[in-house]
Amino acid sequence: MYEAAAAHFQATGSRAFLDIAIRNADLLVHTFGPGRRRAFPGHQEIEIGLSKLYRATGNAAYLDLAKFFLDERGRYFQGSPHAPEDPFAVYDSDEYMQNHKPVLAQDEAVGHAVRAMYMYAGMADVAALGGYPDYIRAIDRLWENVVGRKMYITGGVGARAGSEAFGDAYELPNRTAYTETCAAVGQALWQQRLFLLHGRADYVDVLERVMYNGLLSGVSLDGTAFFYQNPLESDGRTALYQGQVGRAPWFEVSCCPPNIARFLPSVPGYIYARRDDALFVNLFMTSAAKAELAGRTVGVSQETGYPWEGTVLIVVDPEEPTEFALHVRIPGWAREQPAPSDLYRFLDASTEKPSLRVNGRETPIELRDGCAVVRRRWIKGDRIELRLPMPVRRVLSHPLVTENAGKAAVQRGPLVYCAEGIDNVGRALDLVLSDGAAFTAEARPDLLGGVMMVRARTAASSGNAAAAREVVLVPYYAWANRGAGEMRVWFPRS
Ligand SMILES: [Zn+2]
Repeated sequence: MYEAAAAHFQATGSRAFLDIAIRNADLLVHTFGPGRRRAFPGHQEIEIGLSKLYRATGNAAYLDLAKFFLDERGRYFQGSPHAPEDPFAVYDSDEYMQNHKPVLAQDEAVGHAVRAMYMYAGMADVAALGGYPDYIRAIDRLWENVVGRKMYITGGVGARAGSEAFGDAYELPNRTAYTETCAAVGQALWQQRLFLLHGRADYVDVLERVMYNGLLSGVSLDGTAFFYQNPLESDGRTALYQGQVGRAPWFEVSCCPPNIARFLPSVPGYIYARRDDALFVNLFMTSAAKAELAGRTVGVSQETGYPWEGTVLIVVDPEEPTEFALHVRIPGWAREQPAPSDLYRFLDASTEKPSLRVNGRETPIELRDGCAVVRRRWIKGDRIELRLPMPVRRVLSHPLVTENAGKAAVQRGPLVYCAEGIDNVGRALDLVLSDGAAFTAEARPDLLGGVMMVRARTAASSGNAAAAREVVLVPYYAWANRGAGEMRVWFPRS
């Protein structure tokens, strides 16, 4: 409700909803805190709502309360004489709700993945808005752990179904991957906050990865059916959440559908950012925006066929000539770095490099924190053309991900690909993708709402090595839109 109220105020300027949220938040401020009632919420989420209210109103009591709730966590253990009455005691572990130690001492992502993601997003808010160095250190450690040990190639998190939880380091099963849609949304919320805190493109790389893959897979192409779980492999028969094979129109615990409904309309807010006299182009989408830079209003727009094509035309329109730095993100996938860690790597180096032209002139890319930085006195109509080559690439996992030993995944641009039975003579689980098999990409406006399809000519199933076979791949996010069937993301290389 706090987030909705802040968004409503931002969009309309009306305080009608905001004032209701403020009365509610003021009640909490008077009820909870040092010298008042001490407790913390079972499911983290109010922390990010309170931070939004703080940003909308400037009232520091809301940020302080968010920090208080975070600081209370991990201080009352179940069974301790100080433990508050705990409605979640049914779960046998404090880890489940990130209550196993104080948040500032946590350095490994454990427990329920959605709760963790919301908590980390709240910690990043408190770190960034309050400027607490110990919070910044804690949230950076947790990020290293998630991105280095516990993130699927789709950007999804939460390996275990049993308690909807993170697994151990490198425990990333494909068939039973839980990777709840809400955890993917939480991942995006968290990465965006870390970008705003640190200004590094690494976070936008993860945001983009989850947005185009493990988050978007949570909704059908027509927007009427949803996945709660987002596995990376399917036999087309095993039931997922609530006994459903494939996507469902609703769930008994219906967190994921409205989370998609919340996230998708917010996507425009992730495209651009500004800091002092720097303008960031983080995501590539046909779009237009205005920003205040160096005391002037600057328009910025993009035209692009991304993610299918890697050419992006950016036009800047300052109201009068203005000096500022334009930071154009060069995605990790175009810099030989599929993830900002050693969890994933490309099998082969690409010979094609990104390039940048300013007003038609080739300009060397000066990378700073993952962005090409161009500082100049910009005038109305200046044009920047970014070219990101999009060869089809093979991705390998860290050797400790035993599930993916001897296997490769396929990526083109920011999109992870999968094979579905329907495109592969009914079967996907018997496919082999040998390293030598050449890829071709083919625009298919008629298929799955319009996608780039990828084909490879490869060896056949392990049982019948004689017959060569074509492997047909489609973007992972679009799977399970044509009925139930086999699907896989990681392919044996031999
Ligand atoms: Zn959910």
